[in-house]
Amino acid sequence: MKTKMEMLIAQRIHDMPKSFVREILKVTTDPSVISFAGGLPNAHTFPIVEIAEATACVMKSNGQSALQYSMTQGLPALRQRIAGDLQLRSGQEVEPDEILITSGSQQGLDLIGKVFLDKGDTVVMERPGYLGAIQALRAYEPHILPVRLGDDGIDLNELKRVLDHMQPKLVYVIPNFQNPSGITYSSQCRQTLVDLLRERELLLVEDDPYGQLRFEGESSTLLKSLLPEQTILLGTFSKTVAPGLRLGWVHAPREAMDKLLVAKQGADLHTSSFSQRVLLQYLADHDVNRHIQNICQTYRRHRDTMIQAIGECFPKEVRFTPPQGGMFLWVTLPNGLSSLDLFDLALKEKVAFVPGTPFYTDGGGKNHLRLNFSNADETKIRIGIQRLGKAVKKMMG
Ligand code: PMP
Repeated sequence: MKTKMEMLIAQRIHDMPKSFVREILKVTTDPSVISFAGGLPNAHTFPIVEIAEATACVMKSNGQSALQYSMTQGLPALRQRIAGDLQLRSGQEVEPDEILITSGSQQGLDLIGKVFLDKGDTVVMERPGYLGAIQALRAYEPHILPVRLGDDGIDLNELKRVLDHMQPKLVYVIPNFQNPSGITYSSQCRQTLVDLLRERELLLVEDDPYGQLRFEGESSTLLKSLLPEQTILLGTFSKTVAPGLRLGWVHAPREAMDKLLVAKQGADLHTSSFSQRVLLQYLADHDVNRHIQNICQTYRRHRDTMIQAIGECFPKEVRFTPPQGGMFLWVTLPNGLSSLDLFDLALKEKVAFVPGTPFYTDGGGKNHLRLNFSNADETKIRIGIQRLGKAVKKMMG
């Protein structure tokens, strides 16, 4: 029987499943478990001393405004800085008025849902898809349509069929080092994708938290540059500086910005002025690109260590996608094997990962798993993969 409180809960939230990953992360708080489950950056990369200095400087020179309410859209100087960086990256003009500072890019996803989605609207997502987006958008009760992700990006034939028959309102993609698969869209895929979407009445949401974490190869063109009027680009400082600052941004066409601002105001008035000022000071005093290069070097070593250990410890029937950047490696077990069963065996060996199923809204993903390589150090990666290899071998008999 439902309690009184349960009777009061709105249908849209009542029907949402508990976060499977949160449940998994609870299990992995045991310090003897090596966890490849979370999506956490490596805390040793955080610029702690520099942020402490920036904070002291802000308090001394701008303490009152850092602690005061501020503009909904975000500090003009920070928006200017983001617009300038984007302009360098895309070669196209970006106005500070087209940037909205958000409390992490996760908030950007929620605001997009709030502004654009009516109940029953169709949203295209990658299959497998980013859990946080599934969760954020689901609150607005859309019909989620997963489209297969191939080695070069979203399956364009499947997407075309969906576009022709379902008239989606929104297409959500992560073209660089996708979470969870690590896949990056090829230039050809990017171009064909925007050609397919052009002329149609729909919004493209390009989520790019990992684009700057490239370890090798050429950086790719932003979809926002190829299809500016129809695209909203989401970015974040979570992976390049620190997620605890909760600073992300939305780069949206002007017509969308007014509505996003109304939604943002209702959500939290504005993103922390304190965090924004501290980040701005940090960016003014330090070469963040050098900092990002250091993060990339660290993560590249972690990825290589993980790949080498997998080669030594896993049966060769187990396949994986070697990513050129980001934080995740996607593993595929031979057909018929379940990563949920492996999870239980692995936990006995004191190692954890995220099984594939929560990344699929249609019940797929049973023989996949996501491994995070950014958070654990190299020794733990080696030991953790040895333990996981043991569990895989046990499962395969
Ligand atoms: N999008 C993707 C694809 C992510 O992986 C994450 C972080 N897990 C986010 C958005 C949200 O990040 P944040 O809110 O910290 O910017």
